[in-house]
Amino acid sequence: MRPLWKPYPEVRGGVPEEYDAWRHALLDTLGSYCAYCESPVTNDTAVEHKAAKKEASQKSEGGFPHRQTDWVNLVVACGACNSAKGAHPDVQDARGVAQRGEDLYHAVMNHWAWPDFCPNPPRRQPYQPPKQQAYQLFSYEYSAQSQAMLRQRDLHLPESEEIEHAHFTRATDQLWVIPNERYISGLPQQDSARAKAKRTISTLKLNRHIEGDSKASDRRVRNRTTTYLNAVAALGDLENIVQRADYRLEDPRIKLMVEAITLEALASGFWSVWMFVFQDPLLTPLPETVWWELKNFNAGAGLAILTALFLTYPQGWNGLDASSRTIFPGTDVSEERLGFRPAF
Ligand SMILES: [Zn+2]
Repeated sequence: MRPLWKPYPEVRGGVPEEYDAWRHALLDTLGSYCAYCESPVTNDTAVEHKAAKKEASQKSEGGFPHRQTDWVNLVVACGACNSAKGAHPDVQDARGVAQRGEDLYHAVMNHWAWPDFCPNPPRRQPYQPPKQQAYQLFSYEYSAQSQAMLRQRDLHLPESEEIEHAHFTRATDQLWVIPNERYISGLPQQDSARAKAKRTISTLKLNRHIEGDSKASDRRVRNRTTTYLNAVAALGDLENIVQRADYRLEDPRIKLMVEAITLEALASGFWSVWMFVFQDPLLTPLPETVWWELKNFNAGAGLAILTALFLTYPQGWNGLDASSRTIFPGTDVSEERLGFRPAF
């Protein structure tokens, strides 16, 4: 998940009484990408409640309707994430993880991974959820898996009709969302961090993929995988150019290729997938690779290229506002949330 910097916007006339009235402020702040799956969103944009807004009924305790216009509880999501998540997490879900007496709304904010952080919560909504390492908590795995195999790994909670689907056990090569063990294993509370990652993946159904169902409207896994394969090809193209330019960053061919890849990433969305493909080769290259040679030539070059590709525009960066000069609008490019320091 892309780390999002979501400052509370000054609004004239006070807080809107309907959550929909936040739509433009959210899109202007976070950019036109789904906060969860990172698909581009165009017209099918949902103002999305992290803690469900559902009213209580005779059948269920509902969600948190009194929090439905809270800026800190809102992000933008695509139609697929909005409908996959449904009215969860609700009060019932929060009871599964909250200690007795703990505010259940706070439990939702703490026990699921959310991508956004609001540095200046409004005075009338004083609760500030913790700043979470949503980007570092998740990683990807390109492998052949079936929905049944993912369920066994707690990476997918299918609905009953999915289990009955004939293709439920067919494994296909896709880019699956998984907990980032490299990060999690270094944490003091790794069990709860891992559980949080899995809980979030399941609640959002980020790995739902029913192969062969021609009516399935959820194309998130498919689009994520296509983006991954395109990113791998783009990395290969960039390697070629860097080699031909004799590792000199000032070579205009490198600049042109970087710009072309940035534009492709902005159009395709899935910022975290692009980072997944490019981050390790550029920052921690393996011996005998193009990026290893580049590092020998110029130790900071990989970081400079990664920053120029997906993080910040070089000109006029003043370091004061974490999002105004970011390539993907709303990305929090602080070292704390990325896990490394961009080359400003
Ligand atoms: Zn989405």
